[in-house]
Amino acid sequence: MPRVYHDGDADLSALAGERIVVVGYGNQGRSQALNLRDSGLDVSVGTIADASRTQAENDGFKVREIAPAVGAAEVVMLLIPDEVMPEVYAREVAPSLRSGAALVFASGYNIAFGHIQPPPSVDVLLLAPRMIGPGVRDTFVRGDGFPSFVGVHQDATGRARARLLALAKGIGSTRAGCLEMSMADEAALDLFTEQGFGPAFGAVLMSAIETMIEAGFPAEAVLMELYMSGELAYAAQRFVDTGIVAQMDFHSHTSQYGSMTRGVRFADIDFKQRMRAALDDIRSGRFAAEWQAEQRAGSPRFNQLRQLREFHPINEWERQTRAAFGLRTQKP
Ligand code: NDP
Repeated sequence: MPRVYHDGDADLSALAGERIVVVGYGNQGRSQALNLRDSGLDVSVGTIADASRTQAENDGFKVREIAPAVGAAEVVMLLIPDEVMPEVYAREVAPSLRSGAALVFASGYNIAFGHIQPPPSVDVLLLAPRMIGPGVRDTFVRGDGFPSFVGVHQDATGRARARLLALAKGIGSTRAGCLEMSMADEAALDLFTEQGFGPAFGAVLMSAIETMIEAGFPAEAVLMELYMSGELAYAAQRFVDTGIVAQMDFHSHTSQYGSMTRGVRFADIDFKQRMRAALDDIRSGRFAAEWQAEQRAGSPRFNQLRQLREFHPINEWERQTRAAFGLRTQKP
């Protein structure tokens, strides 16, 4: 059984007298900084001088450039995008990092694939919320908390675990539970969800949409039936609340009989072979190396694929459905 830490396992006094700097004030940075401050900890922000600086100052934080902020902190939380992190780390974090500091990552990616190699003199910690940034703040304010994956990658001070659990409590995560994990496993799980599960789920959904539109059903009806009504999202929440099998009782007997008897038609499709290939690509480091090379080349393939996706017919089908039902389009 993996270890799961709760509030009673963590003590905020492990961070007594320690200055925390949150580097980056975006999705995770803002929410974690606000939660840590509300937990009574000493928090400031390090960021480049543009959009997020104004926001952090308006929220009442002391804001500095990244290098001086890191130099004045015992705990450094790196909350900038993973793809820019190695460069920012090398240029602005590593030269200022104090001996005995704790370096905290919200994703195992850069450590797992060797893009960042911290010195032996610092604690290296994983505190990876299983929650999007705004949810990190909302659940804290509501008093619920959210789960995280946590781990000690390097213990230079002998206090690494105590510091990690105190930070996890400070952001509100030990309220819900923090599961112990290595950086490599956190990165693999995260990437597998994006590269194994996500595309497979997307392909099944798109096959269903195309099947029904080709059979003559209007796009508005098909999209509303399959996901745009919100019923799918609602049912997914019931998976969480009651369990995948038990939630079937929320559906009619006709629905249950039909899906159980017809389910066998799809049972022999071997998703696992391709999913194992996706996992192998990730664990071998091939994906990380490819993505790094792509970025170094100026991301030509990435940019081309982003342009191409604008031409997919789903965009027009969704536009028609939104117009028909008067649904507003929310910005991501
Ligand atoms: P964001 O994209 O929201 O980070 C934005 C912040 O990074 C802003 O303060 C921005 O500054 C700053 N930034 C962007 N580029 C640079 C740069 N080149 N140099 C310095 N600062 C820069 O990141 P997230 O919060 O999404 O992700 C942060 C970490 O959290 C990552 O490790 C991610 O994997 C992890 N994570 C994210 C989750 C999520 O829900 N998003 C969930 C769990 C973990 P400015 O605005 O001034 O340009």
